[in-house]
Amino acid sequence: MAAAPNNPAGDTIFALSSGALPSAIAIIRISGARARMALEALAGRLPQPRQSALRTLCDAGDVLDEGMVLWFPAPRTVTGEDLAELHLHGSRAVVEACYAALRRLGLRLAEPGEFTRRALFNGKMDLAAVEGLADLLAAETESQRRDAIRRQRGAVPRLLAGWRSRLTLISAAMEAAIDYDGEEEVAGQCAWSALTDSLLAEIERAATLAPAERLRDGIRVAIVGPPNAGKSTLFNALAGRDAAIVSDIAGTTRDVIEAPIAIDGIPFVLIDTAGLREAVDPIERIGVSRALDEEDLAQIRIDLRDDAQEDARTIAVSSKADFRTPRPEHLAVSALDGRGLDELQRRLVAMARGILPGEGEVTFERRYREALFAVRDELVFAHRVPDLVLSAEHLRRAGRALDAVLGGDGLEDMLDALFGRFCLGK
Ligand code: GDP
Repeated sequence: MAAAPNNPAGDTIFALSSGALPSAIAIIRISGARARMALEALAGRLPQPRQSALRTLCDAGDVLDEGMVLWFPAPRTVTGEDLAELHLHGSRAVVEACYAALRRLGLRLAEPGEFTRRALFNGKMDLAAVEGLADLLAAETESQRRDAIRRQRGAVPRLLAGWRSRLTLISAAMEAAIDYDGEEEVAGQCAWSALTDSLLAEIERAATLAPAERLRDGIRVAIVGPPNAGKSTLFNALAGRDAAIVSDIAGTTRDVIEAPIAIDGIPFVLIDTAGLREAVDPIERIGVSRALDEEDLAQIRIDLRDDAQEDARTIAVSSKADFRTPRPEHLAVSALDGRGLDELQRRLVAMARGILPGEGEVTFERRYREALFAVRDELVFAHRVPDLVLSAEHLRRAGRALDAVLGGDGLEDMLDALFGRFCLGK
């Protein structure tokens, strides 16, 4: 029997990998060195590798069920270990009986994400791919699915490797520029600084795209403005439900209320903030300071203040347009008769598109971004310093920072948090 390579726990695990019971079919996955023994014990003769076969599953003379079984010998399996699958009738009793039989054979139930964890340890997946997979399993909208599948299929390391080789080219061009004098030097310098420019632009863009976790949770949209501006009413109109308390007593919204919504397949989290004013009530004051935090944390702001200014992340809105004259430079909206709401949604989508990954673009988890910004800073230095030898040093540092993007500190904690997001049987 092939020893499980690199299996940190050394034991063989099983879990239901299909959905909640009862279901048409239940798939139990078994991974580890004893998978083969367990499959033979329950189903008799092994099927051909990677081919399904109909078997009667028995445990100590008792027929458990009849179903399809599959056998995947290591190392060409998703976990990198010996792997078996039992496709059974999806009832609780069948699954429970099968679990009991597997336990008697010395196997144990897997923890959430444990199959994927083994795939990571056995080099079957890299970290970015695991994160992509976690997001793919949780994807609820089209943009989440597209981004997650790109990352699950290795887009992050590919992108980094591409940047790395361009950086090497730039360094080579610069070394050449250092070796020459006079006009050639100027020409060489132009060549490498043009290359640096485009690389810099790409890294900058990647670092400012909505981070992967924002796609997961939704782009944050804070509705801000003074008390009674109509924030809660607008929030409810956009959210399509009565999530926030609406009243005409100033300061009713004491806390921050959030609602996830999707417009054109794009996930947003609407944030209704407490009135941005001098709060007297201590509870209300807590609400106000959180409102300011949320305003900073939001990627997009719907600003109901009279003096609101439009910018790349702000939509200036004149609320209650059904009875007040809206300011000409603002978008006129009435939550009461619905005017301007469609246009507001269109603008939200347009703004989101600017910070969402386009076709082929990849997002990074927040924890990678610091490293990306470090790469960018070194490139900026390399570009700015007049001395070529110093530039070369900054390029080397940029290279090291790039290499560190997927590494970094706190890997173990990160893994625990990451695998905690997986469901059982994955
Ligand atoms: P907030 O303090 O900014 O959250 O404001 P609210 O949403 O609680 O609204 C304050 C008052 O304005 C309430 O009495 C609402 O019914 C009223 N209001 C809000 N939006 C509109 C609107 O579009 N038209 C009209 N006529 N009244 C509104």
